[in-house]
Amino acid sequence: MAFYVTTPIYYVNGEPHLGHAYSDMAADVLARHMRQRGEDVFFLTGTDEFGEPVAQQAEREGVTPRELGDRLAPRFQEMAAKVGASNDFFIRTTDEGHMRRVQEVVQRVYDNGHVYEGTYEGWYCPRCADFKTESELGEGNTCPIHKIELTRETEQNWFFALSKFQERLERLYEERPDFVAPDFRRNEALSFIKGGLQDVSLSRPNLKWGVPVPWDADQVIYVWFDALLNYYTALGYARDEDLTDRFWPAFHVIGKDILKFHAVYWPAFLMAAEIEVPRGMFIHGYLLMGEHKMSKSLGNVLDPFEVIERFGSDALRFYCFREVSFGRDGQISTAGFEQRYETELANDYGNLASRTLAMIDRYRGAVVPEAEPAPDLAADFDGAEERVRALLDGARISQALDEVWGLVRRLNRYVEETRPWDLAKDGAAAGPLDTALYSLAEGLRVVTLLLLPFLPDTAEKLLAALGEEDQDLSRLGARGGGQKVERLPPLFPKIET
Ligand SMILES: [Zn+2]
Repeated sequence: MAFYVTTPIYYVNGEPHLGHAYSDMAADVLARHMRQRGEDVFFLTGTDEFGEPVAQQAEREGVTPRELGDRLAPRFQEMAAKVGASNDFFIRTTDEGHMRRVQEVVQRVYDNGHVYEGTYEGWYCPRCADFKTESELGEGNTCPIHKIELTRETEQNWFFALSKFQERLERLYEERPDFVAPDFRRNEALSFIKGGLQDVSLSRPNLKWGVPVPWDADQVIYVWFDALLNYYTALGYARDEDLTDRFWPAFHVIGKDILKFHAVYWPAFLMAAEIEVPRGMFIHGYLLMGEHKMSKSLGNVLDPFEVIERFGSDALRFYCFREVSFGRDGQISTAGFEQRYETELANDYGNLASRTLAMIDRYRGAVVPEAEPAPDLAADFDGAEERVRALLDGARISQALDEVWGLVRRLNRYVEETRPWDLAKDGAAAGPLDTALYSLAEGLRVVTLLLLPFLPDTAEKLLAALGEEDQDLSRLGARGGGQKVERLPPLFPKIET
């Protein structure tokens, strides 16, 4: 089975920040998990380099839009690498291959009779690069997202006949209830559709910075259509061979600010081009940094680059999905980060790993003993893999992490229940000690395989120390003992201030 996952592509009108990193990390969790399942995975991220928001920023900086893109695109590439994103390709919408394919698809939509010339009049937000309907306007004709006053603009351009797709979109939502998740976002998109769809601009005049409309050299393709098409075009030129048949349709991870474009315009446009609609999409919320007490080591602002530098990208990934339920808005803080780092990563997990490896080293010459797993512990692990798979099938990243963390805590309780250090003092308890050490090694191996998508660097180190060379989920079934283990320095060292 193929699994194709995408992040939004990011406007090159500013430096990358935690919001961008969040989408990258989420898509990466899904990509890594699906690879562990043996799926054929393609993971795409990239930059959105055309359109007004970029042209305006370039003008403010006194550079050309292309120069701005050339400077900022590598910053986004670097950020993806820093958060541990295992993307297979990084698309820039200024790529020749993208532009050519955008024109092909737009021409097809035109040839299919879904494009006409007309005049548009409406409230335009240059920062959204979007016209707002009356119902979307904030008080005093403002953009509800950017809180700036909007101007009424009239222009002659090409229109996409979105209204013709209302019924087909409603049917799509009915037939595939999981097309947009979570549910409250699905309902939001569906009520927008049911509210009545108006045709939308497909092109913009007087703008030089964009992909030319193939049949009208005076207009460029409206940046949103050019940008959405990246998900499709990339497969055509990312490799020497065309990957479209192998990977399309995509699963999209996006933020709530771009819901309408992805959940309404995008499937309709694909229908118009006679291309299969996406496999689905998950809409995440915002990580909010409000008033909170300062942490001792990180100051007031959770800067992703600083966190990664000092604590590693695994800690950032873990914190973001653990602190805020993926899909919802939620508060984050530097103090909250430190607390979870210390109590959960360093104590719950890091300490469990250190103790387990140290006890096997000390009591059994660093070889996992041969034994049967403790039945009550094994019972608590039953079905966990299936539950994690089902949750990640629906991109329920925080719930999946929660499921695995329950097992980490269960293993800690098992250590306290069995007290292997006491068993080691009692010569008659060799059997129970074997059972305890074997069960801990196995439990730790299983949770670490399940945690790999969330904590890829840590999991790789720990699996190697446990003598597990494979990362595939097919390895989850119990294995016998006999593996050589190695002690490790603390996986999550104490915070120094
Ligand atoms: Zn706006």
